[in-house]
Amino acid sequence: MTAGAPARAGRAPAAVTVGACQGCGACLLTCPTHAFTPVPGGLTVRADRCTGCLECLEVCPVDAIRATTSEPGGAR
Ligand code: SF4
Ligand code: SF4
Repeated sequence: MTAGAPARAGRAPAAVTVGACQGCGACLLTCPTHAFTPVPGGLTVRADRCTGCLECLEVCPVDAIRATTSEPGGAR
């Protein structure tokens, strides 16, 4: 049961990226670690906070959030 294990503190990429955000705020409210940070024109995801839970993918009404890792916890 290590699906949510943090990959690598500090330099690990966030598990998700935000594209055409419409600013509804759902992901901000959903993210358990408050990884989303508002920036001019949209949102950015703080890699040092994102745990890869992918809950944000479920709540975005416009599918603006995409996973950047296809293999959760994948070792290399
Ligand atoms: S994958 Fe989880 S921790 Fe990462 S930004 Fe989405 S809700 Fe937050
Ligand atoms: S849930 Fe989607 S549209 Fe809403 S603020 Fe987050 S990325 Fe933007």
